[in-house]
Amino acid sequence: MKIYFQNSLSRQKEEFKSIKKNKVGLYTCGPTVYDYPHIGNLSAYVIWDVLKRFLLSQGYDVKHVMNLTDVGHLTSDADEGEDKMETAKRREKKTAWEVADYFIGVFKTSIKELNILEPSKFLRVTDVIQEQIDFAKVMDEKGYLYKISDGMYFDTSKLNNYGQLANLAEVDQQEGARVAKNPEKKNASDFAVWKFSPENSQRDMEWDSPWGKGFPGWHLECSVMSQMELGDTFDIHTGGVEHLTVHHPNEMAQSEAVTGKLQANIWLHNQHLRYEGGKMSKSAGVFIKLTDIKEKGYSPMALRYFILQNNYRKPHNFSWDSLSASQNALKNILREISFYDDKKGRVDKASLEEFYTALADDLNIAKALSSIQKVIEIKLEEADKLATILEMDKVLGLDLATLRTKSLALPKEAEDLLKKRQEVRDDKDWPRSDQLRDQLKGISVEVQDTPDGQKAIYDWLK
Ligand SMILES: [Zn+2]
Repeated sequence: MKIYFQNSLSRQKEEFKSIKKNKVGLYTCGPTVYDYPHIGNLSAYVIWDVLKRFLLSQGYDVKHVMNLTDVGHLTSDADEGEDKMETAKRREKKTAWEVADYFIGVFKTSIKELNILEPSKFLRVTDVIQEQIDFAKVMDEKGYLYKISDGMYFDTSKLNNYGQLANLAEVDQQEGARVAKNPEKKNASDFAVWKFSPENSQRDMEWDSPWGKGFPGWHLECSVMSQMELGDTFDIHTGGVEHLTVHHPNEMAQSEAVTGKLQANIWLHNQHLRYEGGKMSKSAGVFIKLTDIKEKGYSPMALRYFILQNNYRKPHNFSWDSLSASQNALKNILREISFYDDKKGRVDKASLEEFYTALADDLNIAKALSSIQKVIEIKLEEADKLATILEMDKVLGLDLATLRTKSLALPKEAEDLLKKRQEVRDDKDWPRSDQLRDQLKGISVEVQDTPDGQKAIYDWLK
């Protein structure tokens, strides 16, 4: 099947051609592990998980690499402010190392709960310090770096296509518009490759380098890790739309300075999850975590379902009402497929083809998701419907097979009531049978009477 992506680099829909036959190198900018991820952060990883699962479904062997930023991400994109890890360590009263370990654990648990496949490789920035120094040395030797008082900076005027990704020439990227201009920098878009430790304070995380004691600039890690694991040029680079104007152009610039090649062929950017039309962030006072969702009685899979309803290129408005609607939609699907016949079915080729075609069109996940409802409605053997939906779910990742097993596991009390109900039905005592049905309903068990006898499912998803 031909796959098309809207490439941020060319600003066009392009047919996807992998560099190596049947293999895809995929890089996703990972989290800065200084705080809990909010559901907006997590939604991006759900989207790229569907991308990866789709490529797997099309027979590609996908190598997926993600960085874990445990040092060097400053509170401002303009190389100003404090390292987020240093801020977090004071807040948490722990060392920066302890903060990183803790939030890496939180991140890994969160993606597991959202049924996101773990990347083939997670790399921690502090585990590849020497590689970053070596990479920066090459840039320095080639004359791309210069020294100012707080670090080594990349001279973006040395690359004539700097900023092609966001078409920066077209957008106002005057640094002074947002933050105080660093007067020592040669160009507003120049960025730190290596930051020096402050003279009078000791950082938890700092390393010796040819330029002085310090730590790597935030953008360096992705250039280095992607080259280490995926080569000079790889297939697809994904990340949030906030990376379009600073982080990604800087990654590209460093990689090109060192290898002379394009870092990645296809660049995909997801829009953000919004809350009441505004940004979801701690500073905006809206910070919903996965644990908040669970505490309110929602399944992480309801959140996943909610995320899948949107086109990744459009902002997505979150509200508790829409999450409730998603949980109900998921419940309805689960109810249908739990009553379906268990016997081995056959995947309906036409439905699956339609499903894949939606995804092949720049990852139209929302349309693909609606295929499930279509399969429920078409005329098909139950077992075949089940097989088709579960095949689709390999890409959607709603974990329907597991959820269904949970629905079919009845509470002990229900087993006894069903047995009793069978007995009164054998005696044709219909009023008593109906009474028992209501009693079962009271403990969230629904019964259907079929030619093969009673069928019951447990409605565990509240
Ligand atoms: Zn990155």
